[in-house]
Amino acid sequence: MNDILDKPDEFCGVVGIYGTTDAAVNAYLCLHALQHRGQESAGIAASDGINVTKKLGMGLVSDIFNEQNIKDLKGHIAIGHNRYSTTGASAALNMQPIVIKHRDGILGIGHNGNLCNSVSLKRALEDRGSIFQTTTDSEVILHLIAKSLEKTIVDKIKDAARQIKGAFSLVFLTRKKLIVLRDPHGFRPLALGKLGDAFIVASETSAFDLIGATYLRDVECGEMIVFDEKGMKSYHPFEKTDPAHCIFEFVYFSRPDSQIFGEYVDKTRRKLGKNLALESDIDADIVISVPDSSNTTALGYSARSSAKYEIGLIRNHYVGRTFIKPTQAIRTSSVRLKFNTVGGVLKDRRVVIVDDSIVRGTTIKQLVQAVRLAGAKEVHVRISSPPIKNPCFYGMNFPTHEELIANNRTVQEICDYLGADSLKYLSLKGMIDAMPQEGGQKYCTACFSGKYPVEVDDLQSDS
Ligand code: SF4
Repeated sequence: MNDILDKPDEFCGVVGIYGTTDAAVNAYLCLHALQHRGQESAGIAASDGINVTKKLGMGLVSDIFNEQNIKDLKGHIAIGHNRYSTTGASAALNMQPIVIKHRDGILGIGHNGNLCNSVSLKRALEDRGSIFQTTTDSEVILHLIAKSLEKTIVDKIKDAARQIKGAFSLVFLTRKKLIVLRDPHGFRPLALGKLGDAFIVASETSAFDLIGATYLRDVECGEMIVFDEKGMKSYHPFEKTDPAHCIFEFVYFSRPDSQIFGEYVDKTRRKLGKNLALESDIDADIVISVPDSSNTTALGYSARSSAKYEIGLIRNHYVGRTFIKPTQAIRTSSVRLKFNTVGGVLKDRRVVIVDDSIVRGTTIKQLVQAVRLAGAKEVHVRISSPPIKNPCFYGMNFPTHEELIANNRTVQEICDYLGADSLKYLSLKGMIDAMPQEGGQKYCTACFSGKYPVEVDDLQSDS
């Protein structure tokens, strides 16, 4: 959980490159563009066809890589990974890509998502003698591949893939191949692009823009693609099923300049804002966003409202996620470290604050207070998604049921807790209506609706 912003974290972002002499350099640049998907560790593994090298570290991409260690990652194939891990103690242990030597060669893996049956699979593997070196569900996949009786690495990965359940956008590296795989529901995004003659896959297309790559299409739900000296070959190892793209990627998580699930995030977020205004506009003077994730949503809201869009909150981008909080006094001022009010904009105004979601309610409560302190006459809160009532088992890190403010409170009770003049959430229908529907797209809405598209076997997943 991102405590300062009171937003869930994504577990990871991935990238894979095949066919450039400087694959690791491109992977490094792409990881910068995917930094928002994981800030606790990052890594790159590269292959020149003979040797596989890797560099992993804790912290941001810019903390880990330098000119020299990037140069050491030689080769035309690379995979990269940004990770958010749930526990500090295990974070170093769980850095990715994980690279192993098995009887048929070397294999590296980078995983975005979360398996729903990893605990039972791990237990079964341990009963058969497997020894795990990390606490990630991704390592389970490596063990399944290593144990497969199939002949080729491609068939071994297919064999392992058919045993796992849940959300997985995976990049694999061998000495000679880049292999990518997306779960049958396509929970997490995974885009395919071209950079000259080279191929690139990444969690979001903002990674392509940074290196001048062109977006070709998404890796399809349930598709596996193998890149090697023969070119690109696509397989479909799973039975076809309905997609269940994570709707929260559009609401909050992905960058607005990215294209995910075949659509621009910015466009969808504006539509969320418009639908929010259609459902719950109120007579007010100005509409402001909680920067940065709600900026485009607030623009969409103001387009359908008589309230003018203004910049009333300024975000300080230089406050880290883990600044020292030694006393309660400092803890309660943490939001003020991250956001400041623009007094000249807010004074004597009736203000609508647009945010994308409320998790615990701690941040928005302090922002309502801050906007009042800056002189606002009225403060109305508008949220561009429905109340979050359920945890996510597919790769987004929410707090426990008990900590979710909407779990056992009515909207009016939440409004009272926030100290706002009014509070409205976008309806489930309004949220789904804002999504791209072409091609029969379907979405996971489980954290809002409680309808889980994939059964969760292991409620205590240890990733
Ligand atoms: S439960 Fe929520 S956050 Fe998790 S995949 Fe579904 S929509 Fe996304």
